[in-house]
Amino acid sequence: MQIDDHLFALLFEDTPVCIMILNVDGEVKFINKFGGYLFSCPKEQLIGKTLESYINSYNFGPSWDDLWQNMVKGRMQEARVEVGRGNNDDVICLVSSFNIENCPDCIALVFRDITQELKASEQIEKKNVEMAKMNTELIRSNAELKKVSELKSNFLSIASHELKTPLTSIKGYSDIIIDNFRDKLDSGIFRMIESINRAADRLHKVVNNILDVTRIEQKRLRLRPETFNLAVMANDCIEELSQFTLKRGITFKCHMESNPPSFYGDKMRMHQVFTNLFSNAIKYSPDGSPIDVYITTESENRFHIVIKDHGIGVDKAEQKNIFDPFYEVGSTNRHSTDYTKFMGGGTGLGLSIVKGIIERHGGRIWVESEGIKENSFPGSEFHVLLPIHSEISWDDDETKSLYFEDPRIIDPSELEEEQELMDEEVSILLIDSDREAVEIARMVLESAFDIHVAESGELGLLYAFEKRPSIILMDSYLPGLDGYRICRILRSQEETRNIPIAFFSAGTQNDEIQKCFASGADDFIVKPFSGRELVDKIWRLLMKKKEEETFK
Ligand code: ADP
Repeated sequence: MQIDDHLFALLFEDTPVCIMILNVDGEVKFINKFGGYLFSCPKEQLIGKTLESYINSYNFGPSWDDLWQNMVKGRMQEARVEVGRGNNDDVICLVSSFNIENCPDCIALVFRDITQELKASEQIEKKNVEMAKMNTELIRSNAELKKVSELKSNFLSIASHELKTPLTSIKGYSDIIIDNFRDKLDSGIFRMIESINRAADRLHKVVNNILDVTRIEQKRLRLRPETFNLAVMANDCIEELSQFTLKRGITFKCHMESNPPSFYGDKMRMHQVFTNLFSNAIKYSPDGSPIDVYITTESENRFHIVIKDHGIGVDKAEQKNIFDPFYEVGSTNRHSTDYTKFMGGGTGLGLSIVKGIIERHGGRIWVESEGIKENSFPGSEFHVLLPIHSEISWDDDETKSLYFEDPRIIDPSELEEEQELMDEEVSILLIDSDREAVEIARMVLESAFDIHVAESGELGLLYAFEKRPSIILMDSYLPGLDGYRICRILRSQEETRNIPIAFFSAGTQNDEIQKCFASGADDFIVKPFSGRELVDKIWRLLMKKKEEETFK
């Protein structure tokens, strides 16, 4: 193909921009075909005309006259203008001017229709503004949500803390009555006390569950991993639940490999996972039905655990939600009937804790079920994928040694024997402003130990220096000098440096236990404590001190 003048002329005429040549007086000398279309007027009619009657300024910019004067003086290369088109819609054009070589008396103009481009960019601009608005709104509501969630977590944490203190009294007193007054009380009253004691245990469990949920939500669930056999643990949990399964004729069938690899994770937390999942399977199944538990090594590095029941099933729409805290499916009535009732209604916390623990171990949990069906039991399968060797480490080295010690449960009556081993009278200083906690501790301990009580930090310090007790038990929250400061002072003085110190702690606040250790304490006793636990802790601390003295 030859590119000749004719071809150029065609290109010039048909190109989709308006090209025109004007003389210095602004009269049109030449205009291409597209120019006629753009100005909506036969191009011949434009020849010899000036453009001011066709062109308006754009967006309150300069008039065509001013623009043209600048073009003539060679000062303006490009501007936006509005081209009026009579009966047709006006269009916005980008007009550029340039001089033509060898033609000093003329100026070439090119008009490019940018109406659609502008509309599109205006739309984008509008959308951008809307998005920016939505973004700001989102950031604001996110911040609000975070605040509400923090408030909720703090509220739960404080409420649980406050609940733990009266629980100490309820649990402590009822423990004491059960242990010591069985023969002296009317059997009806004794049963009521036992019922109070069980209710306190249930409430304690709920409070602990709420605390676990807040720990998970605030990403401060601490793990203490060790190596153990998951299948053995599953069997142990099933055994522990046998009082419920036997009563209701429910049977667990375990399908496990003969030699599974050891699991590396938090033993106590995994026990909680199995117990929750197994309890649910029992709770939501009819009497006499089987529950299958499969633990298989899926690949070299993960376990696949399935708990399959033949219970009421989980609606498909609810299968994600049931892992949210406080979420219970609407049909809970169905499992509260006598037919399927296990431990009464739940709190909707179990699965969210299970999910939190599994995810903290790097695993995942989901449920599969055909959904709830009238008058039938489609069942549910809870699936857990768990790395065999979770990439978790000890979060809290200071409590590691304590955690691994087997909690020995000592009957207070054994204390006298133990006392003899100590070769000296053991005296205990209790520093606590919570009278009821002091009273319970006193009732449990006074038969075997010499007890001194101080209700404030200052008095506690005074007694500590004066009496040099064998052990000090104190609360962290005290009027005046708080427990942590007292502990630091005692540790800094020669006379009191080696006295074992344990804190009473509700264990609910951020870093409370760390703060106990950081101030120099040897141990902590979480409220509500049982008499047996208290005695056990005291005994261990005394033995530790004795060992240290022997090896000095
Ligand atoms: P809850 O204390 O109510 O049992 P969970 O968090 O353990 O709380 O469970 C949340 C909800 O999930 C339950 O209320 C129940 O509706 C449903 N769910 C849990 N496990 C099962 C199961 N094995 N079969 C049927 N529904 C279940």
